[in-house]
Amino acid sequence: MELSPGARIAILDERVRNQIAAGEVVERPASVVKELVENALDAGAKSITVDLEEGGTRLVRVVDDGSGMGREDVELAFLAHATSKLREVHDLEHIASLGFRGEALASIGAVARCSILSKPAEAATGWSIVCEGGALGTATEAGAPRGTRIEARDLFYNVPARRRFLRQTATELGRCLDVLQRLALAHAADGGSGVAFRVTHDGKRALDVEAGMDLRARVRRLFGADLADELIEVRAQDGEVRLTGLVAPPRFARGDSTRQMWFLNGRTVRDKVLLRALKDGYHGFVFDHRQPVAFLHLAMDPARVDVNVHPQKSDVRFRDERRLFGFLVNSIREAVARTDMATPGTRLVDFAARREEREAVLPFRGGFVGGGAPRAAAEPYVVHEVAPGPGWTPESSGNRPTPRAPLPLAAAPLVQVALTYILRALEDGFEIVDQHALHERITFESLRAELARGEIEVQRLLVPELVEVDRAQVAAIAARSDELARAGILIEPFGDATLAVHGLPARLQRPRPTLIVRDIVALLEEEKTLAGEKLLEEVLHRAACRASVMAGDALSQEEMRALLDRGRHLESDQTCVHGRPTRVRFALADLERAFHRR
Ligand code: ADP
Ligand code: MG
Repeated sequence: MELSPGARIAILDERVRNQIAAGEVVERPASVVKELVENALDAGAKSITVDLEEGGTRLVRVVDDGSGMGREDVELAFLAHATSKLREVHDLEHIASLGFRGEALASIGAVARCSILSKPAEAATGWSIVCEGGALGTATEAGAPRGTRIEARDLFYNVPARRRFLRQTATELGRCLDVLQRLALAHAADGGSGVAFRVTHDGKRALDVEAGMDLRARVRRLFGADLADELIEVRAQDGEVRLTGLVAPPRFARGDSTRQMWFLNGRTVRDKVLLRALKDGYHGFVFDHRQPVAFLHLAMDPARVDVNVHPQKSDVRFRDERRLFGFLVNSIREAVARTDMATPGTRLVDFAARREEREAVLPFRGGFVGGGAPRAAAEPYVVHEVAPGPGWTPESSGNRPTPRAPLPLAAAPLVQVALTYILRALEDGFEIVDQHALHERITFESLRAELARGEIEVQRLLVPELVEVDRAQVAAIAARSDELARAGILIEPFGDATLAVHGLPARLQRPRPTLIVRDIVALLEEEKTLAGEKLLEEVLHRAACRASVMAGDALSQEEMRALLDRGRHLESDQTCVHGRPTRVRFALADLERAFHRR
C-alpha cells in the first residue's frame, strides 16, 4: 500500500482486510477446527478425521467424505464472501447450514499455509489448490478419494502479533478437543446414524466415536460410564419446538462449564438464554457457582431464530424468547428432579481408589491422549458446598417426578446418629439422611408454594419480639417492610435502633425471630440488588433454615418418621436448598464392595 504525500486515508488492500476480518473468525487453532469441521458437516460428511499437531498451531487437517468440490469451487473457496450456502439477503432468515458468510476459508487462508484437495463423487479426478498468507495459487488436477481434505499449517506464521496470543500446546489442544467433543455430541446417532469422528494429536488417538453411537454412548466414550449411566433423558415439546438430550444428577456439577452443551439445530452454541435456562433448571439443586452437566438439543424452525448475530455464530437470537425460556426451565427441571440425587455410598467407599485411577486413566477419559489434560477434568464431582443463590421463580415448577429411589422398609426402626443423621433400612441397602438439610428443604418448599399462591399464613406474636440493630439497619428494613410482609414476616421499626417482630410464617415449626431478623438484615446488606420474588425466596430460605430441626436436636422415632414421610412427598427432597445432598445411600452392591465380597 502506498501513501501519497499528505494523504491520510487509504483503502486497505484485500490481503490486509482479510487478515483483519480473520480476527473475528480465527482466534486460535480451535476456531480453525470449528470452521473446517462445520464445513465438512455442511457438505454432508458421514465420517470426519481431524489431525492436529502441536495443539493445532502447526497443523489442523480435516478430511471428510462429503460432497466435495469441483475445479471452480476449489478456485473460489478461499475468496472472501465466497459461499455456496447463501445467495440472497432473505436467505439469512432461514439458515439451515452451519456456515453462510463465506469468510471462514478466506480468513484462515490469510493467516496460515493452507491447501485443499477435493473431489465430488461423480467427478473422475480431484483438484487441489494452495493458499498461503492470502496468496492463492492455481488449481491443479490431482488424484483424490471422494470428499475433501483441507490443511491449515503454521497458524499466524505471518501475523506475529496474533501468534503471541497463542498458549501452550496443552491449552490450545484442550480448546480444540472441547470444540470437537461438542461437535461429536451434536452429531450423535439419533434414530439414524450419526457422524463418525476420529481425531489424532501428534499422531496419537485423541478422540474417536463411531457413526452408530448415540448421545449416551458418546458421552460414555468421552467422559466415562460413571456419568453416562446416571444421565436422565429429557424429551419435551412445545408446538414446533423440541428439546431432547440428557441431564446429569446435580452431584456431577463442576467448577467449569466444559460438560455443559447446547445444540441448536445441529449447531453448537453457547447462547446466554440457553445457559441461563439450564442454570435456572438446576437452581436450588446445585451450589450456585458450580456448573451442572447436561447435553441438550433444541430443534426448531430456523426462521424462529437468528444465528447471524455473532461472528463465531455461538450467540443467537430467539423470537418469542420468554415463552421458550419458560418451556426450557420447566422441562429441564422436571428431568433434573427425576435424577437420583442421593450421594451413592459407592462414591465414598471407592473415592480414594477412584481418584488414583482417575489420575492415571484421565488422559483418555477427559478426551486427551498424551500430557496436558486440563486440571478441571481431574476434579472430583462429589463436592457440595453451601451457599445461597438467587431465587428460581416458583411458577415454573415442573411436573411431579417418579421417584427412582428404592423403597424404605416401613417397619424397620430408625436410628439417630450423633443427633444429626437418621439411618434407615431400604429394600436393598440403607440410607443416611441429614435431618437439618431435609427439614429445611421441606419447610422452604412449603413456604415457596404458599408464596407462589400469594397466601403465606402468618402467625402473629402475642408479644412482639424486640431485636436491637443499628440505625441504618432499621432504615433498611423499614424500606422493605411491605415486601417482607408478603413473605409473612411482619417487622416494624421500634425506636431508633430497635426492630419489633410482630409476626412470622405459621409454617415455621420453631420460629427464632431474633436470628431470622439478623439474617434478613445481613441479607439486605450483602445482596443490595436482590428484589421482588428472588428477595422473598431468599428471605424464606433463611427463615426455613433457622426454623428447622438442627444438627444436635434429639428426635423421637415418631419425629424422625414424620420428617422422612413429609420428605417423600416433595419434588425436590433430595438436596437441601443450597444444593447439598440431604441423603447418602448405600445399595447392597456398595456394601458388598466395602466388605470385599465382590
Ligand atoms: P461458508 O461455510 O460460510 O459458506 P467457508 O469460507 O467456510 O464459507 O467455505 C466457503 C465455501 O467452500 C463453502 O460455501 C462450500 O461451498 C465450500 N467448502 C468449504 N469446505 C468444504 C468441504 N469440506 N466440502 C465441500 N465444500 C466445502
Ligand atoms: Mg464455513
